[in-house]
Amino acid sequence: MTHFHWFCEQTEGSARAGTLFTAHGTVQTPCFMPVGTVGTVKAMTMDSVRATGAQIILGNTYHLMLRPGAVHIRALGGLHRFMDWTGPILTDSGGFQVMSLGALRKIDQDGVTFRSHIDGSLHRLTPQSSTQIQHDLDATITMCFDECPALPAPIETIAASMRLSMRWAARSREAYIPRQGYAQFGIIQGGTEASLRAESITALTDIGFEGYAIGGLAVGEGQKLMFQTLEVTTPLMPIDKPRYLMGVGTPEDLLGSVLRGVDMFDCVMPTRAGRTARAYTERGTLNLRNARHATDARPISPECDCLACTRHSRAYLHHLFRAREILGAMLLTWHNLAYYQRLMRQIRNAILTQELSSLAQKLHTQWQSEDWTEDEMPQPIFSALP
Ligand SMILES: [Zn+2]
Repeated sequence: MTHFHWFCEQTEGSARAGTLFTAHGTVQTPCFMPVGTVGTVKAMTMDSVRATGAQIILGNTYHLMLRPGAVHIRALGGLHRFMDWTGPILTDSGGFQVMSLGALRKIDQDGVTFRSHIDGSLHRLTPQSSTQIQHDLDATITMCFDECPALPAPIETIAASMRLSMRWAARSREAYIPRQGYAQFGIIQGGTEASLRAESITALTDIGFEGYAIGGLAVGEGQKLMFQTLEVTTPLMPIDKPRYLMGVGTPEDLLGSVLRGVDMFDCVMPTRAGRTARAYTERGTLNLRNARHATDARPISPECDCLACTRHSRAYLHHLFRAREILGAMLLTWHNLAYYQRLMRQIRNAILTQELSSLAQKLHTQWQSEDWTEDEMPQPIFSALP
């Protein structure tokens, strides 16, 4: 059986290229994890998720505990079998989502009591129950149960919240049942305060986890402050353990965070954007609802090998979104996830060949540049189809 560990292959500055070894297969890092909230990466079959190159996906404890229930999923062979994803799965702890429920939740020293957004029924999550639920789901990587305050907030609030999360991290660790090839990650909190981040890292490394996540960012502080916080956080994190920045982000966020020493990411952006006609490309984003795409026979991107770009025109995608056809969301989600995976492979390969800084400059220039011109865009290959 595989021992869970992260092996560093190459570094360039603070950026790291490595491989994560787990009971459910290996993951090349830096990596992007598509979000499979309710046991599905929305609008995607598992084969299409695999086809984009994704090696690990994320599941949500909060959603799965409410429907269909973790014990139910366990009885059906665990989340991998239930959703037919044989690769590694990371589950969040439910903490972030129950905190987002606002008036529907009440926090105390031992956990959170909340009402279901589905039927209003009363539930409770504690470090112990969250860890047990993730065990029942058979998560490859279990996350600690933590509190995440919205930013900006007074420093006293951030400090008290971080210390509560550290007490909960110790309880999450006690409740965790170790298994070969599986892991539990601690979550660093502390807002944008360097001293609180440092205190949080000390508390978590004293407990000892197989990996460490950076939580509490991308919650309204802006990219500049997020990068500044990473710069005072990642240098204090163990160099031999994977580093996961939770809930981030745009292509620019991913690149900037890899440059600051992060290995793993998850975000709903590419999948959510895929359902709202927004395409991520090498030349920035496109809104396919825009009238200018109505007669455009070219693919979304000439550099993409996804199903949407190799078989369909912008005009067809435009039509599907205008007509509210499900296929539009399916094709564009595929395209966006393919773009994110391609970007991460590019970044990883550049670290391996020590060319990340030049790639970073090139990517920034491309993201700012205008859409492809007619000359730059090759004749769409689908026009030659029978
Ligand atoms: Zn594409």
